[in-house]
Amino acid sequence: MSLPKYQHFINNEWCDPTNNMWYESFNPYTAKPWCLIPKGNKEDVELAIGSAHQAFKTGEWPTLTPTQRGQLLYKLGDLIAEHADKLAEIEVMDNGKLISEMSAQLHYLPQWFYYFGGLADKIEGSVIPIDKPQVFNYTRYEPLGVVVAITPWNSPLLLASWKIAPALAAGNTIVLKPSEFTSASAFEFAKLFKAAGFPPGVLNVISGFGRDIGDDLVLHPQVAKVAFTGGTETGKRVYENAAKGIKKVSLELGGKSPNIVFDDANIDNAVKGVISGIFAATGQTCIAGSRLLVQASIHDEFVDKIVKLAKTAKMGDPLSFETQVGPVSTEPQFEKILSYLKLAKEEGAHCVLGGDRAKSSQAGTGWFVEPSIYTHVHNKMRIAQEEIFGPVLAVIPFKDDEEAISIANDIPYGLAAGLWTNDIKRILELSNKLQAGTVWVNTYRMLSYLSPFGGYKMSGIGRESGKEAIYNYLQAKSVWISTQTETPNPFVMRLK
Ligand code: NAP
Repeated sequence: MSLPKYQHFINNEWCDPTNNMWYESFNPYTAKPWCLIPKGNKEDVELAIGSAHQAFKTGEWPTLTPTQRGQLLYKLGDLIAEHADKLAEIEVMDNGKLISEMSAQLHYLPQWFYYFGGLADKIEGSVIPIDKPQVFNYTRYEPLGVVVAITPWNSPLLLASWKIAPALAAGNTIVLKPSEFTSASAFEFAKLFKAAGFPPGVLNVISGFGRDIGDDLVLHPQVAKVAFTGGTETGKRVYENAAKGIKKVSLELGGKSPNIVFDDANIDNAVKGVISGIFAATGQTCIAGSRLLVQASIHDEFVDKIVKLAKTAKMGDPLSFETQVGPVSTEPQFEKILSYLKLAKEEGAHCVLGGDRAKSSQAGTGWFVEPSIYTHVHNKMRIAQEEIFGPVLAVIPFKDDEEAISIANDIPYGLAAGLWTNDIKRILELSNKLQAGTVWVNTYRMLSYLSPFGGYKMSGIGRESGKEAIYNYLQAKSVWISTQTETPNPFVMRLK
């Protein structure tokens, strides 16, 4: 049986990759290919960026008012809402995340298009009460130009939309390169984009291997900004390449987030919060609460409870709404997680749950890892410092607030943190001290289009979602208008 074959989307047209090469995309549940993805090369990069550049400079897009851009984004939001179930199924086929999670994500996704569609005509410059007579000074915000958006495989359309919606609201044009492992949904999204009535060239989608075309995309002289989500090592390379052209960059990178439980917390809620922080999405989220910091006084009792709950997790087909833990998304990621399980043993951590590839009959033929919990971990171990991006929890005890904050912040990352306590003084003090872009108190893994998201330290630069996000795609211009009848001394800068 022949596999469905996708094409590149350039200038509102569907086209084969210039080298006529495709590769297979695998379903992580079966570990079998299910569709064919264009293997783009440098020529495709040229075509896509050329199209985006042309659309930014000429044609209909730059003539649209912000209100009209917003209306197109609303229309796109409506189309996503209409097709959310299909998009969710495609993402599950590609990345193996649970249909319950992807379906919720895709049904929520239109909100980013409505929010930034609404914001498009509310970005106001200001009239500056300037300190010089007979001068009128005002600011305006202008788009940057061509934005290259590069995304990972774990939440493909969500993370692409966090870039596409504000970038388009601001008036830019885009080239999207999704992860090589999960490109199908980006092409399905492009069909909706075209149906929404956007002019040609405003969004272009090309696929291929980052190692082949990533540098070409970032280094291209017609690119004004790179919006990247992915691992910290790739992020560093993107940052270096972008620096060569002094391009604007936003980076959403890795994490190793602490989930901190104090003995005064509601323990049953904290148990659920810790489990959802690490085993939902099979631990493959940047915000995974992969370090459990638990107060020594309740350590044993708490570990018993999380092990008991984690044991009940139903592993299986991610397309079933009953499944609670799905496969790992890609084969390299599966191998990487297994290598960390080996490392945990070598480092002397005690495995109290899992610790191996899954043998359960529910696991099918795919890439399944057992939910794994390790105690006797100290924060200097590699399993406590490095992002594993899988269902692996490192448990570290602490004695008091001071030690909790010191362990929590002793990490190169700073994406998120969880805090479980009922003491308001502690909540206020510790949430100020935590070096993380997001702090959840008595909850975990909450996101919204309304609230900024991004990393401290090596977890990134810039913010996505919320009002802040649109300024990642705009630049301020200061305009000075003189009403003087006579220009003063031309050899001296006018400071008064
Ligand atoms: P990755 O390997 O860094 O890849 C991310 C993207 O970069 C992919 O599209 C990849 O293409 C591309 N790429 C590879 N080499 C490149 C280059 N030289 N120049 C430009 N782009 C290049 O990350 P991943 O394994 O897909 O995703 C997992 C990582 O993403 C984790 O570290 C996770 O924490 C992070 N993440 C962060 C956030 C956040 O918001 N902070 C959200 C989700 C995930 P290929 O797929 O072809 O390699």
